[in-house]
Order: sequence, then C-alpha cells, then structure tokens
Amino acid sequence: MTSFRIPNLEITNITKDIILIHQIKTPYYFSCCDGLVVLPKKGRNELAIALDLNIEPNLIDKVNKLYGPFSNYVCTHAHMDHMAHVHHWEDLGAIIHAPIPENTYLLDLNNFYLGFGFNEKLDFSFIEKFAENNKYHPCKTVKPYIPGDKLTFEDFIVETIPFLGHSRGHVGFLLPSEKILHISCLGFDQPKPGREGFGPWYGFNECSIDQYLIDIDLAKSLFLEHSLFLTSSHAYTIKHPDTSPFSYMRNKIDHNQRIVDQAILSLKSTNKKNIEIKDFLEMDLFFPKKKLKGFIAEMYSYWESIIINKHIERSKHLKNY
Ligand SMILES: [Zn+2]
Repeated sequence: MTSFRIPNLEITNITKDIILIHQIKTPYYFSCCDGLVVLPKKGRNELAIALDLNIEPNLIDKVNKLYGPFSNYVCTHAHMDHMAHVHHWEDLGAIIHAPIPENTYLLDLNNFYLGFGFNEKLDFSFIEKFAENNKYHPCKTVKPYIPGDKLTFEDFIVETIPFLGHSRGHVGFLLPSEKILHISCLGFDQPKPGREGFGPWYGFNECSIDQYLIDIDLAKSLFLEHSLFLTSSHAYTIKHPDTSPFSYMRNKIDHNQRIVDQAILSLKSTNKKNIEIKDFLEMDLFFPKKKLKGFIAEMYSYWESIIINKHIERSKHLKNY
C-alpha cells in the first residue's frame, strides 16, 4: 500500500510497523536514498527509528512531524547519497550511527575525499562542488559500529550485514522480528519492474567484483531463509520467494564484462600500440560523459576508469591486451 501524504515522498507500508520512504524528485545526481522507518511500538521501541533514510531536510521535518520523535538513525555507508542530509536527523535529536571506517566521512568532507581515494585523481574543489550540489553538511557526532554488529534500540534488533563489495563499510539490515532484509546499495536498483538501473556500483578502488558475487549469494540465502520482504535504497519492494534481484545483479556484472571485452577486441583490431585507459573512456562505454560538463564529467571519468579496469583484470582477452 503506497500513500503520498507528504508531497514528493512515496510512503509504503512494508509491514504494520515498518515503512519504506522514497523521495521522488531529488536536487542532484547523488542526493538521496530510500530508507525505512521503524514506527514506535509500546514495549518494543517507544520512539521511532530511521534506517538509512537520507532525504532532504524539509522532508525530514515532515516525516518527523508525522512519525517522530526519532531516537536513532542508522547509516549503511558513507556514499554521498547516503550521508548528505543525515546532519538534519541529528539536529532533530536522533543519535547517528555509521559503520567503520566511513563513520568519519559524515564528520568531515575531507575524510570522504581521502577515504574513497578521490585525491588520486581529482582536486578537492571538485568534491566540494559535488557536496554543495548535493547539499551535504557534516554531522557533529557519529557513533561508529562495526559492519556485522547487532544494534539494539530498546527491544528492537537491527542486524547489520556486511556487504563489502560495494564499500569497506557498506552494510544491509536484517530486521528479524519483521522478516525484512534491506540490502541498501548492493545493486538492485530497478525503480519498478522492467525499468533498468545501472546495477552493482564498483567505481572506487576499494570495491571488489569477487566480493560482490559472494555478497549477492549471502543476500539471497538471508532473504530465502529469514525474510518475507526485500527492500533496497533505490528499488521497488520484493516479496519472498522472488529471486529476480539476485539474477538482475549478476546479469548486470556479466553484461558490463561483455561491454569491456568487446571494447578490448575492437581496440586491438585497430592495431594501435599502447592501448590506454583513455582510449576506453573515449568510447563512453558506461556513462554519457560527452554530454556532461565540468567537475561531474571528471568524476564520471574517474568512476568509469575504475569500473573498466576491474573488468580488464577479469577479461579472458587480458593476455594479449
Ligand atoms: Zn553506495
């Protein structure tokens, strides 16, 4: 059941006490993500809890008015679309929890810059602009947790599940009492059935395709054995025993591999000596960089070069490359 009681928010009841919230229009490329609200329940949690609901401050205010006050907020990882607006939850009195090592990125943009290795290729001013466009503000205090920790809020349990293929701190949530598995940014990103997203995102050096494949299998078994509902940061809700998100994610990785394999073959056929990463980037294999301008074009080139390199390493055509 979906309702639109707040303009620009889609609110869906997953179970009686848990809702999924989605911000429809967002200010920039990586500003927001869908997240869950654990509604208050007598004898379990007296106050509401927000799980990775990074939406704009004016909408947080409206959610707070409707369901708050909120005692705690749990962040799944510190990519920009998961941390830009978290400061406002803190302003409203929630204790902010975030996974090690990304907990410090919520406190200082420079930690985000260094932590994800942007400094290897991009000037800090690019990241400042990116943060400004996404309306990022730092938090004052963040309570760190270790991916895999079980967090308890009064009598409500949130099991954090490490899915580290995406980032060093990235977790999903298993809510055992509600039989919900939230896989956050694992890579199921279809806004509705039949509509394609990018799939698993591995545009940072710390990401690992091998680890992704392990994470996808872990998510699948947790879903089939312990859950009735599967939610994500950028997708529609799945009901047990539908396993299409797992094949979607694997297919996306295979598809990306084929794109890079094909590009290797076509570059080799030109007999050009010393094929370089810029030759791949000029082909706009994954992102329409030619249509982008300024710092955001540079950021997409940075991400795409890493994605391509990860597939070059896995390519069966590597020997002759
Ligand atoms: Zn992410």
